[in-house]
Amino acid sequence: MELRYCTKCLYPDTKPGLRFNEKGICDACVWAEKKDKIDWNLRKKEFEKLIEQYRCLDGSRYDCIVPVSGGKDSHFQVHVMKDLYGMNPLCVNFVPIDLIPLGRKNIENLKNQGVDYIEFTPNPKVYRKMEKYGLTELGDANWPEHVGIFTVPVQVAVAYKIPLIVWGENPQAEYGGSGVTEVLDRKWLEQFGGFWLDKVNPVSIMMNLGVEKRHLKPYVYPSDEEIRQIGIKGIFLGQYFKYDIEKQLETVEKLGFSRNPELKEGTYTNWENLDTKYTGMHDYFKWVKYGFGRATDHASLDIRSGKINREEGLKLVKQYEGKIPEKYFEDFLNDMEITRDEFYAIVDKFTNKALFKKDKLGNLLRDNDGNLEKIQYDNL
Ligand SMILES: [Zn+2]
Repeated sequence: MELRYCTKCLYPDTKPGLRFNEKGICDACVWAEKKDKIDWNLRKKEFEKLIEQYRCLDGSRYDCIVPVSGGKDSHFQVHVMKDLYGMNPLCVNFVPIDLIPLGRKNIENLKNQGVDYIEFTPNPKVYRKMEKYGLTELGDANWPEHVGIFTVPVQVAVAYKIPLIVWGENPQAEYGGSGVTEVLDRKWLEQFGGFWLDKVNPVSIMMNLGVEKRHLKPYVYPSDEEIRQIGIKGIFLGQYFKYDIEKQLETVEKLGFSRNPELKEGTYTNWENLDTKYTGMHDYFKWVKYGFGRATDHASLDIRSGKINREEGLKLVKQYEGKIPEKYFEDFLNDMEITRDEFYAIVDKFTNKALFKKDKLGNLLRDNDGNLEKIQYDNL
């Protein structure tokens, strides 16, 4: 199978939902150019008009929900809503059970910006079962997290009757895809959230595995009726403000956000997905499924912003991407109750075999560290 890569950045055509134009340039690159031409002042005015409709003048409820993890995006969202616009947000965090101390530190720093904050911690036994199902059946051990971060803030919006939910960037815009819309709702999630409420319904799946419905409440998206009654609207801040990672990092570091002291496994940056142990595993499975990982995402962003050229990006990708994240690997095997060989068998199951080197019998080749070798890194 011949891979086709974007001629500007490093995205391959195996990236789900990614489209190329006649010049061989991908959506994400086209969007990045469009971003420069957008009248961001006008967008800002639209934003200001919109949030005024939701500001609670008598102080009887919160002005909006800000779903947070404690990361750089969360800090930025809180900064915009609270510091720039004087809103009183309720921050809601669905905390994965594999939180590490740096994640906790950033959460405390976020709270200390001066906001009310609800921390939802899911039942660890159910969560672990979902992780295991996610790993073995979906090739994504972070499945319960990907569901919970989108369901629980909306549940809290319903419970507290808060009609506005302010999400951060739109990943469809920043990382390519056709879901560049203004609103985040159930439809967006089903199409682009990587979270398939209908196709992969967490409740029915886990009930089939013997988990009672009452233990699956965190993973249920509120009904259309509940959403309609309160008039809940979910917006992306990235729709109204030009997202520039370097500037954003500068802002949030001034607010006390801490980067990882070392580079994040699988990429060459230290500012993202720092809060839990197993996010690197998610990136690794993305790599075996589609032939690209987080280093490709970051290099492509840096190419688009002119920070590096395509050649330098390719070098970084080759250097950092596609290795099993070793730092918490033993913990991961223990938590998933699998051996290293069983892990390889699961990896094989999700690997797009056309993208990696095989022996004469068609078995995937692994080096001494258990890593696969990708065949084609660029257009031929
Ligand atoms: Zn591109």
